[in-house]
Amino acid sequence: MTTHNSVYVGLGSNLDNPIDQVKQALLALNTIPTTVLLKHSALYRSKPLGPKNQPDYINALAVLTTELAPLTLLNELQAIENKQGRVRTAQRWGPRTLDLDMLLYGNKQLHTPQLTLPHPGLYDRAFVLYPLYECAPDLVLPNGLKAYDLIQRCSVMESVELLIVVF
Ligand code: ATP
Ligand code: CA
Ligand code: CA
Repeated sequence: MTTHNSVYVGLGSNLDNPIDQVKQALLALNTIPTTVLLKHSALYRSKPLGPKNQPDYINALAVLTTELAPLTLLNELQAIENKQGRVRTAQRWGPRTLDLDMLLYGNKQLHTPQLTLPHPGLYDRAFVLYPLYECAPDLVLPNGLKAYDLIQRCSVMESVELLIVVF
């Protein structure tokens, strides 16, 4: 029997026309073998994590089903990042054309150097939690909480704006 796993992917971009980068990445996610884009959030604008001397980010969240194993899917996500001009530098949380984080892969828990599931930033990043709340308000996360509960814990200083973009 083939297993279809629900996967939540966080998208982010702050270089080379971020809105277009995120839109293009959403299309690319739907071209991954045995993988279907079920839904995606609206676009959000957020302040950068880490170094502040970089542009604001555009973020979104995508919900996929896939038959691919977690590491195979991670390779596909990184191939999309590379295709969209992602340059990997030594600077942590530096600017990038595209970042695709695997936030959840079903209820899988994994701690390997290549892949941590759930993604370590899932529970405390407002730019992840708002689009997650939009797409899956009733989803109970592996820590027993829903996106809405976790949003209440985020700092009021962590500004996230909803963008109204027609696409
Ligand atoms: P953060 O992970 O804190 O959001 P980042 O997205 O800037 O930071 P990257 O430079 O994009 O970090 O990724 C570094 C490495 O993280 C990747 O090469 C990948 O192997 C690893 N990684 C571990 N867990 C995950 C995950 N759940 N999703 C994506 N990459 C992951
Ligand atoms: Ca990230
Ligand atoms: Ca990443």
